[in-house]
Order: sequence, then structure tokens, then C-alpha cells
Amino acid sequence: MRDTTTGTRDLEKQIYDLKELFEISKSLNSTLDFAILIDSLLLICMAQLKVLKVGLFIRKHLDSGEFSLHRNYTGFEVDHSLSYAIPENHGLIKLFNRKYGCYTLDDIKAEKVSLKGLEPIIKLEPSLLVPLQAQGKINGIIMTGERIDGGLNKSLGDFDAEEKEYILNMASLASIAINNAGLFEMATTDMMTKLKLRHHLYTVLHDWLENVQANQGGPGGQGFSMLMFDIDFFKRVNDTYGHACGDAVLKYIAQIFLDNVRGSDLASRYGGEEFIILISHPGKDLAMKIAERIRKTIEDSNIQYKEHTLKITISCGVACYDRKIDTTADGMIERADKALYQSKQDGRNRITFSSSIDQTG
Ligand code: GH3
Ligand code: MG
Ligand code: MG
Repeated sequence: MRDTTTGTRDLEKQIYDLKELFEISKSLNSTLDFAILIDSLLLICMAQLKVLKVGLFIRKHLDSGEFSLHRNYTGFEVDHSLSYAIPENHGLIKLFNRKYGCYTLDDIKAEKVSLKGLEPIIKLEPSLLVPLQAQGKINGIIMTGERIDGGLNKSLGDFDAEEKEYILNMASLASIAINNAGLFEMATTDMMTKLKLRHHLYTVLHDWLENVQANQGGPGGQGFSMLMFDIDFFKRVNDTYGHACGDAVLKYIAQIFLDNVRGSDLASRYGGEEFIILISHPGKDLAMKIAERIRKTIEDSNIQYKEHTLKITISCGVACYDRKIDTTADGMIERADKALYQSKQDGRNRITFSSSIDQTG
């Protein structure tokens, strides 16, 4: 007969584990923002698995063919000259798909799966590789370092079977959260340029206006700036080199926008070759500095398309949130648009600040 005390203890442990998993689920599903989600997932892993080193391999873009080590890893001594990525067609991913479970390096070798190409990752000496799987597809891999407490029994590895089961339960919650964040990303991102779509810009702009108007802090709550851009003589690019070349230029310029904003800002494709950047900072100086940096980078670029080298310029209108006049999203966009129009009128390849035209009519 089963010892009652041990039985009660087992049940208590199960209830405790379930409560923990419930809390983890709540925490992971409280955000659709990738950066926040990944940070909380890594923290949860460290606390739950009792490891000091943890990293996550994830697709950099939705259409990326490999899982790359996300930059928010903790503890691992990463050599930045090496590539830490697992191609989606690697034998390891096939193994995860074939036999879902978490694996040590020895487990993987025992499955006769070659680790060729993953040498930089092996050098980090992961204690466990845990696939994240949602809707039958791998969408990430958690990598852990050794346990702080050394594990229960070194000869059995760092984690016992029960712990591995718990880790997989946690991983399945994480993969659902990552899947949801991925779907959200897909629904709000322009696939060609990787910039946010116009409808998402409106959502964010409404939120920021609400935050600042109610003095309630949060994103944009201290005030913010809007930079509106339109490429100069873009029709000529299409007419001279073709639409595909126009698309290549759009992608090139979009990357410059993305390189010049922070995670708290928003870079969006407002129209075909019109873009709006929201800067989550109130200052005019900073807004003008960022606008100028982007304008200059584009002006100085030699954009290569097939055998052609293209020189492109862009015009910009800047509006900083003004409590007295910016009562609606459309009103503020109209202000930035008027400033942009002024830049076009004045000869293009320049930036106009909104107040200067407000004063002159
Ligand atoms: P301006 O300096 O006055 O802005 O001149 P412009 O020629 O750039 O004029 P406008 O801004 O009106 O040009 C818009 C052009 O952008 C028209 C359209 O053919 C092109 N365009 C819009 N979306 C796309 C796209 O997705 N791909 C390509 N290749 N072209 C696009
Ligand atoms: Mg235009
Ligand atoms: Mg244009």
C-alpha cells in the first residue's frame, strides 16, 4: 500500500506545480509584445529551472529560415564573431518534430543526430535544449546552462524525468504565447518592408494621445513626436527601373527607419512610399535630430539594384505633440503632412517643423 504521507506530499507538489504553471501562463499571456514576452520567459526559466544561464532561439522574422539566439540571453559567454543559429531544416529540428521532448547534448547524440553546424552552440555547453511547439510546429528553442544546485543526481543529468515533464508543460505555455505574439506581429506588420501597418499606427497613436491627455504616463504619456516622410520623385524610380526596383528601394529605406528608432518608438508604412515614425519622447530637438539623421543617411546611400546605383532623397514633416492643438490623431497627422508638403514646396530633401507653418498660416 502507498504511504499516505508520501501520497499527500506528491499531491501537494502537483498542486503547487499546477499553480506555478497557471501563474506562468497568466504572465506569458499578458503581453503580445515580443521583447517583453521574451524577457519574462527567460526570467521564468531561470527561476523555475534553477539555472543562471538561459537563452532562446527564435526566428528573427516571421519568414526567416533559421532560429537565432535572441540577444536577451543571460549568462552564456557568447562570441559575437560567431553565428548562433539553428537552420529550420537541421536534423535537430527534425528530431524535435519526430520525438517531441527536451534533450541534453548526449540525448541528441544517442538519437544519432549530427550536431554539425551547431559548434558555437555546443561550446556554450547547454544542459538542456527545449523545443517550443505550437500547432504542430517548432517556433523556438530554449537553451539552459547548468543548474545552480547541480541537479539531484549528476549521473542522471541535470534534470530528472518529472522535472523534464514540468519543463515541457512550461514550454508548451511559452510556445502558445510566442505563437500569439507571432500572429499579432503578422497582422500588424507590412511583410515587404517589416514596418508597422497604417491601422496599427492609428491604434498606437490613439493610445499615446490618451496617455498624454490623461497625464497617466505609459508609452507616449510624457509627450511624443511624429515624423512623416515621403520619398522624393519616387515615380521616376518606378518609371526608369521598374516596379521591382521601386520595391527594393522601399525595403532599403525601411531598414534605415528601423535602424534609427528604439523599441519604444514606432516606424510605420503610412502609404505606398509615405512613412510615419512616432518617437516616444517629447523634445523637438530629439525629433529633429532623428529626422535629420535619417534624411542624411538616405541622401548618402548608394542603393544598389542589379547593375544600377541609385541616389534617393526623402522629405520630412515633424510635429511634436501640443496639448492645445493635438486633440485628435487625424489632426496631428494633418499637421505633420502640411509640414511635409512645405518641405516638398521648398525643394525636397529637407525637414520642416510644424510650428513654423502654423505661424505663417
Ligand atoms: P514627390 O517628390 O512629390 O513625392 O514625387 P513622387 O514621384 O514621389 O510622387 P508621389 O509621392 O505621389 O509618388 C507615389 C508613387 O509611389 C506612385 C506609386 O507608383 C509609387 N508606389 C507606391 N507604393 C509603391 C510600392 O509598393 N512599390 C512601388 N514600387 N512603388 C510604389
Ligand atoms: Mg507620396
Ligand atoms: Mg513621393
